Amino acid sequence: MSGDTIPLAGVIGSPIAHSRSPKLHGYWLERYGLHGHYIPMDIAHADLANAVKTLPSLGFVGVNVTIPHKISVLGLADSVSDRASLIGAANTLTYQSDGKLHADNTDGYGFLENLRSGAPDWDPEAGPALVLGAGGAARAVIAALLGAGTREVRISNRTRARGDALRAKFGNRIAVYDWVQAGNAVEGAATVVNTTSLGMEGKAEFRVPLDGLDPSAIVTDLVYTPLETTLLKRARDAGCTTVDGLGMLLHQATPGFERWFGVKPEVDEETRRVMLEP
Ligand code: NAP
Repeated sequence: MSGDTIPLAGVIGSPIAHSRSPKLHGYWLERYGLHGHYIPMDIAHADLANAVKTLPSLGFVGVNVTIPHKISVLGLADSVSDRASLIGAANTLTYQSDGKLHADNTDGYGFLENLRSGAPDWDPEAGPALVLGAGGAARAVIAALLGAGTREVRISNRTRARGDALRAKFGNRIAVYDWVQAGNAVEGAATVVNTTSLGMEGKAEFRVPLDGLDPSAIVTDLVYTPLETTLLKRARDAGCTTVDGLGMLLHQATPGFERWFGVKPEVDEETRRVMLEP
């Protein structure tokens, strides 16, 4: 790419029409007066390898990766960050100046940044964390919590075997609870995180019993449609500090934007406002 070429970035997945990333990156490009474009691309699995190989010759400096390619792209990268390798998935690809493709996963970073900005008193070492769910997002959250110093991470998932697999992966700081025991796992938890799709618009209701919730617990939900989910409302009513999931989406995007366009974007109220516009 020549020096005066406008850098291109984007997001690859399938389907892609629902992705909020083009709006976010487009807003930041405009806000900071940067030359660049961010493009959503619907790429089928069969075309993934070709697309990833071809994009730099078209002027792409990197792409975000979403469902269903987050795992497959690891096998296409020349280098993989430790955190992406630990999580087993990547969401941020960068074409480096030496032509090599680097894969990273910024979901855990986004999760922690969101918690820290939404609940500045949050202490990862304050006590056990409960993670509801054991899918792709849960992996990033668990890796981030363990990395931040949480000594015990409880996992409760509808399909217990997926929780057990995460214990085998992350080790004996993980305690697995049956899904019907999720309410018991809430007791004594200093941090509670919903990584399931329960409570999301159009999905099943969130019904985990929260009677055991301590008012000192910090409660966060990865679901951000609606912004205040049933979990967050019930936790707020119980006196807990709550943090919504929109900030995670915004914070996970900042490392890629900075690498591709050269400016670290700010996640502030204005960014949230823009993203909440229909
Ligand atoms: P995923 O890999 O498909 O995992 C989905 C999880 O939800 C699994 O643990 C699944 O349990 C559970 N689940 C689904 N339906 C359920 C039901 N009816 N009852 C109980 N559990 C149910 O998806 P993911 O990528 O981890 O994403 C999970 C959620 O996080 C989505 O809502 C996604 O939009 C959100 N997310 C938000 C951000 C953000 O930036 N805020 C980032 C990533 C993801 P089983 O294992 O039993 O199927």
